[in-house]
Amino acid sequence: MSSFIDKDFGEVVVRRNAWSTQVKVSVATSGKLTISVPTGTSDFLAKRFLNNMREDIKKKLPIKDPSTQRARDAQKKILMKKAREYLPYRLDFWATKYGYQYSSLRLSHANTRWGSRSSSGTISLNIGLMNVPEPLRDYVILHELAHINHMDHSSEFWAEVGQHDPNYKRHREQLKHFSPGV
Ligand SMILES: [Zn+2]
Repeated sequence: MSSFIDKDFGEVVVRRNAWSTQVKVSVATSGKLTISVPTGTSDFLAKRFLNNMREDIKKKLPIKDPSTQRARDAQKKILMKKAREYLPYRLDFWATKYGYQYSSLRLSHANTRWGSRSSSGTISLNIGLMNVPEPLRDYVILHELAHINHMDHSSEFWAEVGQHDPNYKRHREQLKHFSPGV
């Protein structure tokens, strides 16, 4: 058994089993991420495996390592601060430029969506937007603003998004490479 520190998962335990033929990832009762590998597998290879699986692991496994949780909370705080100093002004900039009216902005940190608009006129933007390139951030803002005139994703809706962000199709695709969760 050995272990190493990973930037996302904290302490990762490498468990070597003579009889295992494949690599398996699980969370131990201690909350630590554990990789089971065949005997003779180096830490180097275990790390490489972890890197290849990183996004999948993040989505599927509940990591409870307290140091990881603390790191995540700290990251969230920093993001929230950045988001507060940026998103209200950016939203206002685009709304003013294209004549949209919204009632308020809510900063969210949901894991699944970048933004939304409620029927009461509140626009929600995910603080994770501070981690994506500006053109994609603007696309999300323009997308939510266009929902003020179109509640659905009809062709009229997309035509309006396209008027303000001619590259919206590409931005929408690129956004899929990022996850809104912190
Ligand atoms: Zn939408």
